[in-house]
Amino acid sequence: MKTALGMRTWIKNPLAGMADGAAGGLVVEGAEIVALVPSGAAPDVEAVFDASAHVVLPGLINTHHHFYQTLTRAYRPALDKKLFDWLVALYPVWARMTEREFRLAVRVALAELLLSGCTTAADHHYVFPAGLEHAIDIEFEEAVGLGMRVVLCRGSMDLSTDDGGLPPPRVVQKIDTILADGERLAARWHQAGPGAMTQLALAPCSPFSVSGDLMRETAWQSARLQVRIHTHLAETEDENEYCLACFGKRPLDYLDELGWVNDRTWFAHGIHFTPGEMRRMGAAGIGVCHCPTSNMLLGSGICGVRALEAAGVAVGLGVDGSASNDGSNMIQELRQAMLLQRAGGGIAAATFKDPIRWATEGSARCLGRADIGRLEVGAQADLALFKLDELRFSGADDPLAALMTCGASRADRVMVAGAWRVVDGAIPGLDLAQLMAAHQAAARRLRG
Ligand SMILES: [Zn+2]
Repeated sequence: MKTALGMRTWIKNPLAGMADGAAGGLVVEGAEIVALVPSGAAPDVEAVFDASAHVVLPGLINTHHHFYQTLTRAYRPALDKKLFDWLVALYPVWARMTEREFRLAVRVALAELLLSGCTTAADHHYVFPAGLEHAIDIEFEEAVGLGMRVVLCRGSMDLSTDDGGLPPPRVVQKIDTILADGERLAARWHQAGPGAMTQLALAPCSPFSVSGDLMRETAWQSARLQVRIHTHLAETEDENEYCLACFGKRPLDYLDELGWVNDRTWFAHGIHFTPGEMRRMGAAGIGVCHCPTSNMLLGSGICGVRALEAAGVAVGLGVDGSASNDGSNMIQELRQAMLLQRAGGGIAAATFKDPIRWATEGSARCLGRADIGRLEVGAQADLALFKLDELRFSGADDPLAALMTCGASRADRVMVAGAWRVVDGAIPGLDLAQLMAAHQAAARRLRG
């Protein structure tokens, strides 16, 4: 279902969209957007896609996830627990994961994201039990198979319960092993520059599962390899207390000392920062991935998105792992962001367009990308098209607002780098029923 290479295709007369001066749609050639079409104009093209029933958005960009957690959705022993207890309940299960189960988990998460309009996904994988040493390679392979753009974060943990950390010893690794794998993965998979489909980032898990040495070495390695760095930060008050007790510092001060306050960094969550910390982050060019559903489900708090943006911090969106959401639906996450921000900060905290901007331009900034997240000439042809033909939209006035207020949940068409990857609400070539059957069996086995 690719547009033929070089063929100019007009995505014609969309019902609504997010691009100025493009009421008549846009033209895609190869992997790029080559023209915006004003109302009434008729560009010279070889093919036309009638988008008159579609709302056309830039492809959504998910900036934080843990694909493997699709195997532990709604896991009984972890229900109704806050972050630290939730982790302690889940680590032993994750430690039993095999390569086959992991591959199914990744495929399910990517398919779910893609069907919800996501064209670029970041994942943060930090659990490497024996036998799963090539987890990140498996993730890259699955993304390539589905034609999705990815920024995969080589996660890491080196502090187990033996060293005062939270994870059990069998899921942590030695610093040398972690750094060598980062080196290998960058050489094998990382593409630099516009249009990159596979990128690597380095991502120690959190201050309570990673040593200071590993944090510092990772920052140095990322500067040398010119890749981004990512970690969980300021997710809970417990984390602030842990850092003050263990390091005598708040989390951002601790990471600053280890070389993390720079423009290669984006954090997941970013809830419990002071105004002064936000200003430092903004001045340094740091990004924050807001994960509204996860924050609500784990009762972690409400991220101050407006304050972060006012301080110059790039804010993107993420569904977070599927054991703390527990879905991977990107368009639904936009609605959640709007609702949570308004619940915490009143109507001025989020317009209906803000979450769309966060999940596109904001997320692109978090990932250090200028070639995605916008519908403009020269940008990658990553598009998410939504139809309003479901019962939930019946009677809606503004089509763009309807995606947020009525609660869109699935894309009708998705294009990545100029190729259609979702057609009529399905992924061509992927047998979802078969995938779900295999994945459910894997989840059952893993639970034991
Ligand atoms: Zn996370």
